[in-house]
Order: sequence, then C-alpha cells, then structure tokens
Amino acid sequence: KSKAKRFRKDEPRKRFDDIAGSDSAKRDLTEIVDYLKNPSYYQRLGAKLPRGVLMVGPPGTGKTLMARAVAGEAEVPFFSISGSEFIEMFVGVGASRVRNMFEEARKEAPAIIFIDELDAIGRSRGAGVGGGHDEREQTLNQILSEMDGFSPHEAVVVIAATNRPDVLDAALMRPGRFDRKVTLDSPHRKAREQILEIHTKAMPLDDDVDLAAVSRRTVGFSGADLENLANEAALFAGRDGSKLVAMAHFNLARDKILMGAEREQTLSD
Ligand code: ATP
Repeated sequence: KSKAKRFRKDEPRKRFDDIAGSDSAKRDLTEIVDYLKNPSYYQRLGAKLPRGVLMVGPPGTGKTLMARAVAGEAEVPFFSISGSEFIEMFVGVGASRVRNMFEEARKEAPAIIFIDELDAIGRSRGAGVGGGHDEREQTLNQILSEMDGFSPHEAVVVIAATNRPDVLDAALMRPGRFDRKVTLDSPHRKAREQILEIHTKAMPLDDDVDLAAVSRRTVGFSGADLENLANEAALFAGRDGSKLVAMAHFNLARDKILMGAEREQTLSD
C-alpha cells in the first residue's frame, strides 16, 4: 500500500456514448468539455470558468466513468486519486501527494483532476467518528488551497465524486471550489436496458435474450451491478459449454447477484 503511486495519470478513451442515460448530467458537463477543448477562446470572452464539479450519486452509478468521459470527450489527460487512500497515511504524505498531482496537472493543462470518494477526506470537521484526524484535515486543506490558488487562465477542472454529499464540509462548496453539482441517479428501466446493451455488445447472444425483460426484473440494480450481471451471464454460458449466452444464463446471473446482496444484508444486520 505504501508503494502505491502518488496518483494515476492516463489518457482516457471513454466517451459520453459509453454511458447510458444520465442525459442531464452529460448536458451539464458539455460546457466543461467545450471549455477544456478551447480554453483560450473562453478566456478571450472573459468567461469565468468552472473550477470544481461535485459528482453526486449512489455507488456504481458511473461517477468515475462520467469523469473519465469528460476527459475523453475533451481529449485531455486525466489525473486521479481516491479519498480513501489517505485514511491510513502518515501526516503530511497526503498533502504532498495532492500538491504533486496539482503541479503535474497544471503542467499538462488543459487537464482533469478526479478525486474519488471525496467524503473520506472532506467530512465536515466534528462530524467524523472519533473526532479530529490530522492527516485528513491537512489533505483537505491542501486540496482547497490548490483550488484557491489557480489563476483564471489555468485550464484545470477538478471533479470530485461522493455518495455522501450530506457529510461534506461546507467549505468545499464555496464559490471557486466545488460550486457545481452534477447528479447521477440510479438507472430507471430504460437506462437499465441501455446499460445492458452496452455491456453485452461484444457477447454472442442467443435469440431468446430479451434485455428489456431483464431490465424490468432488475429494479434497484446500478450500472456496475448490470455490468456484473452481463459478465456473470457469460460465465454461466461458459460453464454450460454453450456457444451463445442465453436468457437462462441471464436469469441465473440475476439470481446469483440477488442472493449475494441478500447475504450481505443478513451479515450487516
Ligand atoms: P462508486 O461510487 O462505487 O465508486 P461510481 O459511481 O464511480 O461507483 P463507476 O465506477 O463509474 O461508478 O461505475 C462502475 C462501472 O459500472 C463502470 O465502469 C461501467 O462499466 C458501469 N456503469 C455504471 N453506470 C453506467 C452507465 N450509466 N452506463 C454504462 N455503464 C455503466
């Protein structure tokens, strides 16, 4: 764990088309894509550009995927780090990683910085279990001071994801920080069908496979659950020695996932 890289950088190839549904989120983020594609144009217009976006939604709804797609659409590098990585670090390490990451991103601007699980470091002070946590606080302060320190011509947009916006420190949402909010909801029926279409595109499906029917029987499944479902169905087909993935395999996969979820529930009760 201590040898983990300071942060990850890559050139994401994800596009908005890889994400089913979430149309209003895509619409909101298009502005950021346009800006990252052509920052000097917007600067000449005298437009103040968004600095931070808070991506809010339940687990597995594609927050990370969406952030990567923004970078992919704009064709800019994507720097990422996860809030949970800072929890067991020595004091000072988190802050210096944050500093390094912002420095690199500035050098390669236009760029996206993505902070996953912001709530792990961005909890309001006093709301945390066990009270003060120096490392977390220092890391958070470093993020805030980096964001405050951007000059208007630096085209770096910081996207942070959380499924607990309610516990975040209000200081994070001040103007010039994460002052935009983009919400991703659990997928409704049609979106579930489209997500299944995306994740079965490369699979040889039998004629009896009815993804609309599968989507109707997967109320409450997230995008990540549906991706998992498609994969489990293919694994069941493999176990059968079948050349095609059939509806029966989707049914088995669904039962398996629901059973797993039930077991988790019992264990946590
Ligand atoms: P967490 O809160 O658990 O970190 P997240 O919201 O960041 O989750 P992702 O990690 O982006 O979710 O999603 C997990 C995977 O689920 C994605 O890589 C993608 O394959 C699939 N997925 C989620 N939502 C969608 C969607 N709307 N369309 C297509 N695939 C999706």
